[in-house]
Amino acid sequence: MLEVSNLSVRYGRHLALENAALNVAKGEIVVVLGSNGAGKSTLIKGMAGLVRTEPGAKITLEGTSLHKMPAHRIVDAGLALVPEGRHLFSTLTVNENLMLGAFLPRTRARAEESMERVFAVFPKLKQRLTQIAGTMSGGEQQMVAIGRAMMTCPRLLLLDEPSLGLSPLLTSELFRALPSIATTGTSVLLVEQNSHQSLAIADRGYLIEKGTITGEGTAQELLASEEVQKAYLGM
Ligand code: ATP
Repeated sequence: MLEVSNLSVRYGRHLALENAALNVAKGEIVVVLGSNGAGKSTLIKGMAGLVRTEPGAKITLEGTSLHKMPAHRIVDAGLALVPEGRHLFSTLTVNENLMLGAFLPRTRARAEESMERVFAVFPKLKQRLTQIAGTMSGGEQQMVAIGRAMMTCPRLLLLDEPSLGLSPLLTSELFRALPSIATTGTSVLLVEQNSHQSLAIADRGYLIEKGTITGEGTAQELLASEEVQKAYLGM
């Protein structure tokens, strides 16, 4: 359902992403693993229309070309980004943050139904609707950020390092919820440094190093690969 090829991003003279190619099928969870500065955020921002991409890129979501579309139209086409650092409105309540996700005309009418889908994935949020988002724990805030993206009724959720700043326990609580998003037909593409926990829930993965995708495989293949064990699993 998502097809990306020839995606390159340049910051001035620095080529931060070179000819990236990947695909995600409907209902799949795919992880892109890379260390600090490998180009993970750049890859995600390139797909979401948040950085200028080099000519020749192909980004299609269920047959619709997203390349060169403005970011808000990309969201309307069904691609929702949960940015690194969450970017919640910290003085607003959980309910207000979630409702801000339903800003598109096509999603506003379905807000109640979408909110139920968010509660099915993160039951905790139902009791916290009136809590000020800034007073929540890091893990809870990440749930709100993912919930807000779910309110846009996406076909594909892009998650930029959702485990950042979370303890292993909170990360595993968060990651355990991701398969229930995928089983509703929304695909998930996450970029992560946290290989153990992300490969545990992913169907497939890609490796990115210095702006280039250097490998791919099923989660089992990557877990078993010597290269991945050395570079990402600390074995
Ligand atoms: P991290 O895990 O540390 O967030 P990352 O894999 O997401 O890293 P990117 O943020 O995509 O990496 O950065 C890739 C490279 O591009 C890095 O060398 C970074 O310094 C550079 N870079 C990122 N954003 C900019 C920018 N706005 N201007 C110039 N260089 C940038």
